[in-house]
Amino acid sequence: MMKKALLFVTLVLTLVIFTGGQVLADESQQWINFGHKNNVAIDKEWTITFNEKMDRSTLHSNSVYAVNENGEKLFLATYLNEERTKLRVLPPADLYNPGEDYTLYIESDVKSAEGYNMRNGYKMTFSIDPTAEKPYTLPNNPKADFFGTVTADTLNVRSGKSTDTEVIGQVFKGQELPIYDTDGFWVETEFEGQTAYLHKDYLKLRHVSGKLLEGLNIVVDAGHGDWDPGAAVNGAEEKDIVLSVTKNVRDRLERLGANVILTRNNDYFLSLEERVALSRSVYNDLFVSIHANSFSDPSVDGSEVFYSDSKYGNVDEGRFLAMELQQELVQMAEMDDRGVRDADFWVIYKNGSPAALVELGFMTSPSDLEKLLNSNHRYLYADSITQGIIEYFER
Ligand SMILES: [Zn+2]
Repeated sequence: MMKKALLFVTLVLTLVIFTGGQVLADESQQWINFGHKNNVAIDKEWTITFNEKMDRSTLHSNSVYAVNENGEKLFLATYLNEERTKLRVLPPADLYNPGEDYTLYIESDVKSAEGYNMRNGYKMTFSIDPTAEKPYTLPNNPKADFFGTVTADTLNVRSGKSTDTEVIGQVFKGQELPIYDTDGFWVETEFEGQTAYLHKDYLKLRHVSGKLLEGLNIVVDAGHGDWDPGAAVNGAEEKDIVLSVTKNVRDRLERLGANVILTRNNDYFLSLEERVALSRSVYNDLFVSIHANSFSDPSVDGSEVFYSDSKYGNVDEGRFLAMELQQELVQMAEMDDRGVRDADFWVIYKNGSPAALVELGFMTSPSDLEKLLNSNHRYLYADSITQGIIEYFER
């Protein structure tokens, strides 16, 4: 703990200087290298200390990130402290790899609360303790593609890939089973020595690589579209705001190994039925719909996330997902907290997978609208939703 504090205190005293001048990004950013750290823990949480209060919206996973040996940009969740000078940088969802080298980057276009950029970007290299071991280890099973944890209280084990086939037993909440094959919503496992099948709506899957979202089909639904603008305030339309956040979420989830399916990636319209049908046609493991709110009273602001309490299955999972998403919208994107709520919105009510509907903020609130229209804050919304999904799969 002391070590990282010292590192960045040194950095603050000697190197981080804000400039009121133009951004230097065009001149291909110049980096100040503040050295190398050896034997770093696999779950290392860095703290970056700035010498001025920061503009939170500019600190997101496009401006603060780590790159691994293969040049892949890792998604790191960040939280700014109340004084707005210290940024906590969480380890990646799957932690760092033992023995690997990484570079942490802080781009120069992060801004102080007064709107100043840094003169330079900063970077630091570090190597992870080669003797470290990842805490999450899956049972050794060379035949398995995934392991699935049962999320329903009881789940029928069947002899074939349909609900018409014989129930040969049951498995219970929290049980972890090897998955040998996937065919649509049906996954193959082994039960009392024989080949058996389970419906994956009631399993939380984890790829044998240990990578958290690897191979999962995550549907992200941007609300409205085309002739249906959703909420509209001063020429700004909900359909455009949510599409841009949705695309940012896709970019992040793909970095985490997920197969991301957008119900729309452009300005066109789908009915609610079509959004659900599309989700189910790709055998979705998760569904998140993204919207922005409006209300007659401009003083009403904040984020809220909905789950459906009366759908056929996955009520608890939908609520957990909603809670994790809301927590990150509040902590990371610093939205006022309107909590999680139960509502039978068609897209979540009719979706068999765990599903939640996010209201990012109120377009009718001047302070929320500023965030919704700010491209940096849209990155932060996407970071929050991504981290909410990570937290959901980790719980
Ligand atoms: Zn909407």
